[in-house]
Amino acid sequence: MTQDMHTSDRSDVFPRRGPDRRTVLRGAALGAAAPLLPAAAATAAPASTTAGRDRGGDRAARSVSFRWLGTTGWRIDVGGRTVLFDPYLTRFPTGLFGSGLDPETELKTDPAVVDAHIGRPDLVLVSHSHWDHLGDVPYIARTTGARVIGTETTYHLLTALGVDPKQISVVKGGEVLDIGTITVEVVPGLHSRNKNCSYFAPGTLNAPPATVPRTIADLPEGDTLAFRVTAGEHGPSAFLMGASDFDERAVRGLRPDLAMIAVPTATSTTHHYVPRLLDALDAPGVVVPVHWDNFELPLTGSPVRDPAMDLDAFLAQVGKASPATRIVVPDYRTVYDGDMRPARR
Ligand SMILES: [Zn+2]
Repeated sequence: MTQDMHTSDRSDVFPRRGPDRRTVLRGAALGAAAPLLPAAAATAAPASTTAGRDRGGDRAARSVSFRWLGTTGWRIDVGGRTVLFDPYLTRFPTGLFGSGLDPETELKTDPAVVDAHIGRPDLVLVSHSHWDHLGDVPYIARTTGARVIGTETTYHLLTALGVDPKQISVVKGGEVLDIGTITVEVVPGLHSRNKNCSYFAPGTLNAPPATVPRTIADLPEGDTLAFRVTAGEHGPSAFLMGASDFDERAVRGLRPDLAMIAVPTATSTTHHYVPRLLDALDAPGVVVPVHWDNFELPLTGSPVRDPAMDLDAFLAQVGKASPATRIVVPDYRTVYDGDMRPARR
């Protein structure tokens, strides 16, 4: 099922489109941010490769659904294919939201919890190897056969945890992968930084680990990737982040329709994170904040805010930097369409 995902002719599913919705969005954003700009100049913005939708494109948008899996995780369904990004569902306690993070906390996966949320995935994208991103991927890969796309560190950790190496595609950033009805662009990324400009468990692996990973500290970051996932030839496209920092020069020009942006900690030392990112992404039409929830509580309830994150300040910064952007604060139990509106069922 997952070894060959190149059999579908995307043009059948996502016909060519006419008017450039992205240009319209961009015009609106520019108009709001810079009211003195002549309307003609705003609408003359160059067409993007992720340009907007005609009626065929709207059908494509309706065929896309997004489910937030908590933390930075997503399930995206496009034309019968399922893509997971950073699916961490077991959400076991580490002390992070209580007495303090215990790096000796043992890794574990709850199959019933994971199975309830992942559908039948074809592809699993992994931003980096920390437990709250990679923790359930070994189980998912072993039980579904899904292809995993991640760093070399992710590759070595997964193979040590029993995943078939032939199932894993190592990427570095810059790759643009055709996967049937979905295009995956791998974007070089960066990990979040705390008040000391550092972060938990840095390091990369260029060879298998000496022992099978057993604790959360056994899963080093291993560099961080972001992804742009595009449904069909023309979108919608979603920019997916796994941590709250980015390489400005790598991000510029991606121009996604939707940006799933990791909220930084209140003490982050990343300079002008929100305005720099939104400018580099060209004022996306929709911003969806992620990684602001307590990821050690079950997904069955409503999201509970992580007290280390100032979600309100983040939302205010988005509104200030890009007034025409629609902000969607996601919920665990809502299925969203390609415009990140609650899907009609
Ligand atoms: Zn991390």
